[in-house]
Amino acid sequence: MSHYKMPLAEYVYTEHFGEMNVAEDVYSSFTDKKNSNDQFLYVHGLLKEYDWLPTKSDGYIRLSQAHRRWRKRLKKNLKKLGVFINMDCTMANKNNDTSDQYRLRGNEAFKIKNYEESLKMYTQSIMTAEIDSLNFALSVANRSATLYYLEEYEHSLKDIDQAFKSKRYPLQKNYKLFERKGNCYRQMNHISIALEWYSNCLLHLNSNTHLTFVTKEKIKIRISEFVKKCEVVEENTKKINIKYKSFAKLKFDKNFGLSKCVEIRNSNEMGRGLFASKNIKPGEILIIEKPIAGVFKNSMWMFNCNYCFQRCLSAIPCSKCSQVIFCDETCLRKAHTSYHGIECSLVYPLKADPTVEPTHDLALRCFVQLINLMGVDHFCSMVRKYNEPNFSFDESSNNCFIDSTFHSIYALDGNETKRTVSNLFFMHCTASMMVSFLSLNEYYDIPSNLLGTVGVSLVHLLCIANLNSYASVELSKYIDKSNNNVSNRTATYDSVALVLCPAYSLINHSCDPNVIVQTYSGVEVTRAIQPILEGSQVNHNNFLNCT
Ligand SMILES: [Zn+2]
Ligand SMILES: [Zn+2]
Repeated sequence: MSHYKMPLAEYVYTEHFGEMNVAEDVYSSFTDKKNSNDQFLYVHGLLKEYDWLPTKSDGYIRLSQAHRRWRKRLKKNLKKLGVFINMDCTMANKNNDTSDQYRLRGNEAFKIKNYEESLKMYTQSIMTAEIDSLNFALSVANRSATLYYLEEYEHSLKDIDQAFKSKRYPLQKNYKLFERKGNCYRQMNHISIALEWYSNCLLHLNSNTHLTFVTKEKIKIRISEFVKKCEVVEENTKKINIKYKSFAKLKFDKNFGLSKCVEIRNSNEMGRGLFASKNIKPGEILIIEKPIAGVFKNSMWMFNCNYCFQRCLSAIPCSKCSQVIFCDETCLRKAHTSYHGIECSLVYPLKADPTVEPTHDLALRCFVQLINLMGVDHFCSMVRKYNEPNFSFDESSNNCFIDSTFHSIYALDGNETKRTVSNLFFMHCTASMMVSFLSLNEYYDIPSNLLGTVGVSLVHLLCIANLNSYASVELSKYIDKSNNNVSNRTATYDSVALVLCPAYSLINHSCDPNVIVQTYSGVEVTRAIQPILEGSQVNHNNFLNCT
């Protein structure tokens, strides 16, 4: 989002200090500082002086008055431009009333067979439902029905089990889930298991005292029809799903998925880049890799796991906040250890802040991941080493970028020296806000002697995220089924997340790109789209991916 062709946050700080009649002094003091450490500490002190930094009271992290005043002003101005911003921070909390509303909307969509919409609504209902509540049980059960009609039988089964596991699903309704389980297994051609669940369902009906005789008879007739169908084993055509799942099985090098036909080199004009080490034909795959870090674009996150980025339709929610989902307990646990433990209580109050951009979330994510991986002391010693004037990577081994996660993130270009003073100043302001939030967070402590180094590293990560991240696009899951003419179907792409990849980020930009990148269930695949001759540079154009 930009304001007067400037990032919103940059505009806010520039305006604020302009109105205070100190902008010029501030910028000249900022540029006069002798090193990046002093620059950061100066900005941090300045924001403190002008009441920009958040505080903590009654156990809650609160934005400062100046910050809140600006948020209000922005909200008003943007409203005039027709942009509505919801700044309600409580949205990140679980709330059964909200969950109810989403489920009702899901039910309405379900009734008119708009399964895609009901899938979205039920997922939102699951995310917002309070932990161990009836709401959660009802919503996963309803989602299992939607998934059944979307022919996502494995996901439907997973949701049915979630409903049972929650122990809150009403016993007298169990027959519905038994029947659905039978149906899923029948569709998957697991006939004997299907028959088992149908017979469980019939047993349950006999002992159910909540249903009338007539209703029970109706269900029994329906089930006997299904049992008959089981006897005629049908060839199950799972159409699109099979095609999609085959992508997810792509094998890639866990650390760095560079193909042998490319190598990292330094060129005088464009700095570090990726070069062809042999002739490459269009269609050849050059890189297969997982992003180092990624943050989801608001409306798309509910179908992809927040940890492994894989598409997942029967996801489980975070037990604390209502903002993220995961494939399963393993991803949830890994995410909590790696970053979400901190983010859960920290980042989401900021979500509603119009000056926080997705690249800021991404920078903070990189920082938190690295800190959790390395420990703050080791991290800071690496940052200091990196900032020494004579520091250089061991160029004899390009593996130095790959060997450690730190290098693969930190060695990316941030272009700090080429930025305008006002832009660099605003990166410092944002880093300063982040440092304050981190310091106020109960799970985390930055020793005061490391404040400068942490700030400097955040400025660098913000610049890296700003320069190297790109929107990861994925083929839409559902192709309009009503259109039977395959050749007329247009493939649509969803922009899923803002990601940072170690190898793809090494590729330089060109308006005549010779590669493109696409996402297959969280795996980024870079492919040649033009012949690339041995020795020439590989180039991408990120704007191709902008949707
Ligand atoms: Zn996952
Ligand atoms: Zn959470």
